[in-house]
Amino acid sequence: MVTGSTSGIGLSIARRFASSGYDVAVNSFESESEAGGAMAEIGEAAAVCVRYFAADLADAAQSANLVDAVIGAFGRLDVLVNNAGIQKVAPIEAFPPADWDRIVAVSLDSAFHTIRRAVPDMAARGWGRIINIASAHGLRASPFKSAYVATKHGVVGLTKTVALETAEKGITVNAICPGYVWTSLVAKQVADQARVHGISEDEVIREVMLAPQPTRQFVQPEEIAELAAYLCTDHARSITGSAISIDGGWTAK
Ligand code: NAD
Repeated sequence: MVTGSTSGIGLSIARRFASSGYDVAVNSFESESEAGGAMAEIGEAAAVCVRYFAADLADAAQSANLVDAVIGAFGRLDVLVNNAGIQKVAPIEAFPPADWDRIVAVSLDSAFHTIRRAVPDMAARGWGRIINIASAHGLRASPFKSAYVATKHGVVGLTKTVALETAEKGITVNAICPGYVWTSLVAKQVADQARVHGISEDEVIREVMLAPQPTRQFVQPEEIAELAAYLCTDHARSITGSAISIDGGWTAK
């Protein structure tokens, strides 16, 4: 099950797992017809069962019920990827409280609700993989992203805690911390960043986004998907409680 998997990183992870023969539960808050394009893309990857589960993860009950629905449909949940996330760029004094609440709900609260429902099912079978898509902003801060940075630090803390609680149950829990990946989430914030920094959109990409990323290149969604797939192999069974950076060197500084 991959939350927020109709676009960007989540779509890439869903496609990667489908191509490896996993049955895949795709999720977003969109209607099933709006998600049709993504479903076709994932379904093309392999002849596996790919099903869509609409749920707005800003809502606690929908987050918890999503796991129950997936287990009901597939019989079990082996891999949970908490990927859904949203962004808002604004100085703290102008940060709309509604945006703060929604960002925390979608990225952090929803991971709590899905994990607490998934762990008993995984523990009963003695195997499970939980992968939380955090961010370089789970390890470092940038101005004007108070909700996002606080949330992603929280996701890293949640990851470590649940890893300790499940360490003897055959379950691993890790956070992937990407630097800038070129997806709609990043494309949408270029205009906002230009406004708050008072610079052009080209300068935002060059001077704000790629400035902290020493490779000066965007990470590609497929690179994140490949790392997620590796974390589900037997060779990765000792990797748990880790915040794994894939950020072009950003957090080496
Ligand atoms: P994206 O906007 O391309 O995709 C986000 C997905 O989440 C979409 O499928 C969207 O429908 C879904 N979603 C949003 N709100 C939802 C809700 N309330 N309920 C259910 N689904 C919802 O974004 P992306 O760049 O692929 O980001 C995916 C994750 O990766 C996020 O957690 C983001 O914080 C993280 N991340 C992204 C970058 C980056 O540079 N793009 C860097 C680090 C971390």
